[in-house]
Amino acid sequence: MNIILLGPPGAGKGTQAKKISEHFSLPHISTGDILRENISNNTSLGLRAKSYMSRGELVPDELLITIVKDRLSRKDCSGGFMLDGYPRTIPQADALQMILTESGKKIDAVLNISVDDEELIKRLSGRRMCKCGASYHVNFNPPKKEGVCDACKEKLYQRDDDKPDAIKNRLVVYKKQTQPLIDYYNRKKLLRTIDGSKEISQIFEEVKNVLEEYEKL
Ligand code: ADP
Ligand code: ADP
Ligand code: ZN
Repeated sequence: MNIILLGPPGAGKGTQAKKISEHFSLPHISTGDILRENISNNTSLGLRAKSYMSRGELVPDELLITIVKDRLSRKDCSGGFMLDGYPRTIPQADALQMILTESGKKIDAVLNISVDDEELIKRLSGRRMCKCGASYHVNFNPPKKEGVCDACKEKLYQRDDDKPDAIKNRLVVYKKQTQPLIDYYNRKKLLRTIDGSKEISQIFEEVKNVLEEYEKL
C-alpha cells in the first residue's frame, strides 16, 4: 500500500505516521525529517534548505523532487510506503506521479488530516521534538519524563519554525501552496478526509479503519 499523509502543519501527520508505520509495517518518509537531518549533518542540501525552513517557507521543488525520487527508489519501499509532508505543491504532486508511473506504481490513498487554525497554533507552539523523529506536546502529549524522549532518551528541543512568526507564515504558505492538493487528489478519487481534532488514539482508530480497506489490495 502506497499512501500520502496530507494536512496543515501541526495536524498530527508525524504523530499518526509513527503509529501507521509500526502497525502496517510501512516505511515512514518524512521530508521534514530528511531536511532536518541534512541540516544537522551540515550537508550542502541542508545548507540550501536551512533559511527557507527557519522562515517557514517551502524549500524549492527541485530539491524535494530529487530527495523523494531517491528515497522511493530504495529497496524498503518496494512493498509500500507512506509519505509525510510530501507533496506540498502541485508541481511536487505531478513529479511524484511521473516517478511512480516510471516504476509501475501508484498512490492508493491520500489521508487528509483536517484541523482548524486555532488548534494548529496551540499544537505547534507546544510541540517538542526529538532527533529520532518523535514529537511530543507539553500539554497534549507529554513525554513520561519532562524534556526527554520516551523512545530513545534524547533531550527534546523546540523547532525554530515552531516559534510564533514562523508558525503564522507556515499557515499562510500551507493555504496558498499546499491546500490546492486537496482538490487535486479529490479529483483523482484518492482523498480520504480524517477529522484531526480528536484525540490521538481516536484518530488512529479511524485511520486504521480506512487503511484496512487498502491493505488487502
Ligand atoms: P505535523 O507532523 O502534522 O506537523 P505533529 O504530529 O508533529 O504534526 O503534531 C503537532 C503537535 O501536536 C505535536 O506537539 C503533537 O504532540 C501534537 N498532537 C498531535 N496530534 C494531536 C491530537 N490529536 N491532539 C492534540 N495534540 C496533538
Ligand atoms: P510540519 O508538517 O510540521 O509543518 P515538516 O517537518 O513536514 O513540518 O516540514 C518542515 C519544513 O520543511 C517546512 O516548513 C518546509 O520548509 C520544509 N519542507 C518539508 N517538506 C517539504 C516539501 N515537500 N516541500 C517543500 N518544503 C518542505
Ligand atoms: Zn527520540
